[in-house]
This record gives sequence, structure tokens and C-alpha cells, in this order.
Amino acid sequence: MSFKGIRGQDSAISLLKRSIANGRVAHAYIFLGPSGVGKFTTALAFAQALNCAGAKAGEGCGVCAPCRKILKSNHPDVLAVRPEKDSTSIKIDQMRELIRNISLRPYEGKRKVYVIDGAEAMTPETSNALLKTLEEPPPDSVLILVAENLENLFSTVVSRSQVVRFFPLGADAVKAILMKEYGVDEEKARVLSRLSSGRLGEALRYAEGKLFDKRTRLIDSLIAKGLFDTDFDGVSRDEMRLYLDIMLTWFRDILVYKELGTAATLVNIDRKEAVSRAAANLSSDYLCDAIRRIIETLSYLDQNANQKLAVAALGMRLS
Ligand SMILES: [Zn+2]
Repeated sequence: MSFKGIRGQDSAISLLKRSIANGRVAHAYIFLGPSGVGKFTTALAFAQALNCAGAKAGEGCGVCAPCRKILKSNHPDVLAVRPEKDSTSIKIDQMRELIRNISLRPYEGKRKVYVIDGAEAMTPETSNALLKTLEEPPPDSVLILVAENLENLFSTVVSRSQVVRFFPLGADAVKAILMKEYGVDEEKARVLSRLSSGRLGEALRYAEGKLFDKRTRLIDSLIAKGLFDTDFDGVSRDEMRLYLDIMLTWFRDILVYKELGTAATLVNIDRKEAVSRAAANLSSDYLCDAIRRIIETLSYLDQNANQKLAVAALGMRLS
């Protein structure tokens, strides 16, 4: 995947290409934007452009040995750091290892490119350790912090980095790409594009995994048994977040249908009969409360609350 394969991020990509063309590549970038819009993919494409054996116009060829190694995550000078499995933070040991590594000369490439994927997950200790590297960046090194928002980053980290913004493509564009390039049928493409809030990567994650089927089963279960006979035992935190997001779209759809009486903006457009039945049975107060409680539960999960208790409490309030 070179820059050419990345959709809808033209301003970010042209900024990066220009920086290569002008010989003004920054030592640190923050790739900022919602999940699933191509930030990490762009970081890899940028690493390719910087290390390609035959780069043209600020773009990696995608087929030479360095480009292929970068894509397969086995280039010694291009590394990604993210929270380890079952952890929500980037630990100080991981950062120390990165800092030790980045101060060495490139092993076989032209530039070291280190990507901190999910930079919000840095602890204060980790951020402090990184700060020293940002103040005196090693030559031939580029650090890319991938983040969804700036609020959880140290302002001193932000001020020493160039912020590059990424945006969602929009639901209509995502729907068109899903149909044209991925052969998804129109109704499913419409649901996916709306479920993903117009983020292509997120839509593909839904489409390719079993997520779409899981959504269908969850909604069936909400319709048949109500929310809280559904069994969420043993579900991972990420998956629980996804289920809560799906519930949010479901209750939002019912409320919208109830208030506006039209199916035009429904996310779960393939279930519009069930939405209209539920709209007739549930009060607006109940729906607003459900939406508020689900958002609350999502924020508890983000704060590392006990998942089982949080979900059980939600169930009791809504039953
Ligand atoms: Zn190449």
C-alpha cells in the first residue's frame, strides 16, 4: 500500500510528499483523526516513501525490497509501538527500548521511522521519557504519533510535533467504494457506511470480519429478548465497546424514526420494519435514557471499570 491506495486523505498526503520534495521532513509528526480513516496506513506509506530504493515524486514504489519489508512489518528501521495485548497503556519499558533504538544509526534504510500507534495510551512517565527524544531528535529519525485526539497528549509533546489531520471520507463515498471496489451489495454497503460513520477502514473491518454478522445477531437478540437477556460473558473489552456502539445506533435509529417518522437517515436501514415496530412500542423518554446510559457505560469502559458490573448495571437500568 503506497500513498496511491489511501482514499480521501489528499491534504495529509500532499503535505507529506511536499516535505520529502523540499527536504523538510519533520522529526516528529502527530497523525490526528478518528479511527479507521487511514492514519497508520499513511504512516507506513510515508516510511516507504522515505526508504524506497526507487521513490518517485515523494512516493514509494511499493515493490522494492524495503517497501515490501515495511508493508510486512519486518524492516529493521521501521517499527511500531502500541499497547501490548491485554494492556491499555504504552509502558515505560517499551518507550525506553524505542528511545535506545532510535538513537542508533539506520540499520539498512535511509531513515528510521518509529510509529507510536495509539499515542493517547502513553502514561505520564512514558510521555516524559519521549519528551527528551523530541527535544534532541536523533538525525535520520522520524517519529509518528498516531492519535484520535490531542487532549490526552502532553502539550509539550504536541508543541514539538507537526500535526497532520485526517478526516472521515463520508458515508456516501464509503458506500460507493464498498460497492465498486469490494463488490458489497447496495443495502449492506449502505449499512456499513453508516455504521462506520463514513470511515472506510472501519467499514472494511465490519465487512471483512464477522462483525456484520455479529451486529445482525445482536439486533435479532435485542428485538426478540430485549437487551438484557443477551449474554455478554467472556466478551473482550474491544468487542463489548463495539456491541455498545451497535446498541447506540439501534436506539438512536428508533428515536429518530419515532421523532421524524422517516427511515431516510437510519443506520440499520436493512432493519427498518423492526425499527418502526420498536418506535411504536417504546417512549421517547425511555429511548433518550437508554442512549444516555449506553454512552455512560462506554465511558466507564474507557476508564477501565469492571466490564461485567458496568454492563450488568446498564441491563438493570434499561430492563
Ligand atoms: Zn520501493
